[in-house]
Amino acid sequence: MDTLQDLRRFKDALPGNSAKLPVIFVGHGSPMNGIENNFFSDSWKALGVEAPVPKAVIVISAHWFTPGTRITAMDHPETIHDFGGFPKALFDVQYPAPGDPALAKETASLVHSAEVVTDHEWGLDHGAWTVVRHMYPDAKIPVLQLSIDYTKPPSYHYELAKELGALRKRGVLILASGNMVHNLRAVNWNMPHTGYDWAIESNEVFKKHLLNKNHRALIDYQNLGAGVRMSIPTPEHYLPLLYAIGLQENSDITTLFNDNALMGSISMTSVLFSTPAA
Ligand code: ZN
Repeated sequence: MDTLQDLRRFKDALPGNSAKLPVIFVGHGSPMNGIENNFFSDSWKALGVEAPVPKAVIVISAHWFTPGTRITAMDHPETIHDFGGFPKALFDVQYPAPGDPALAKETASLVHSAEVVTDHEWGLDHGAWTVVRHMYPDAKIPVLQLSIDYTKPPSYHYELAKELGALRKRGVLILASGNMVHNLRAVNWNMPHTGYDWAIESNEVFKKHLLNKNHRALIDYQNLGAGVRMSIPTPEHYLPLLYAIGLQENSDITTLFNDNALMGSISMTSVLFSTPAA
């Protein structure tokens, strides 16, 4: 799959107007994707160009895992460099997108199953900015983050996402950012461009259930076998996917992209749910 082909697919899959914004799950992978121009970041750039321009972006990042559900509500979220051992150039990146406190309050008010707390402490972690800066390099569009409550079961995240559905019609792009297969202990530097059998098989299982809209199987991922348990040793990089499928509507078409395993135990596989213009 080449990037040009990805870009064409985005063009076909995305509406030409902003009647209803798509929902995207991206595999974000290494923080270095934030400053590299590569296959993955090229697809993020293409999404930014081809998707309707959103009024704001709300990111559900694997890297904001909290007790309770929070949403950033500051005017100017800081760029958080939440990693170690990377080049100074990565630490030097600032992504000065504004926040949108009114949208944070509006989003919190849409959720009735839980209390969503407005947050003034976080900012934009690398699960958010490494992707969004390629999509919207001007940093003019407000970016918020919604945290993942680690005390709750998988179904909580799926159900909470359903309550956010109205945002798609209000010009808000919801971007879930993780990695479906993500086992850092099993990373193998001698396998830069492929995955272990269990990682590739798990990736196929996830794609099959995504294409069949089998949400129940994806929510109950702990029952998908030993390979999937190896692929999801901890849930934080997988759970963003449950927000994306919770926001999927019947009229959406499903477009898979960046369908690549790498380093043995990581998949970059991403999915776009969009309703093309009639
Ligand atoms: Zn990550």
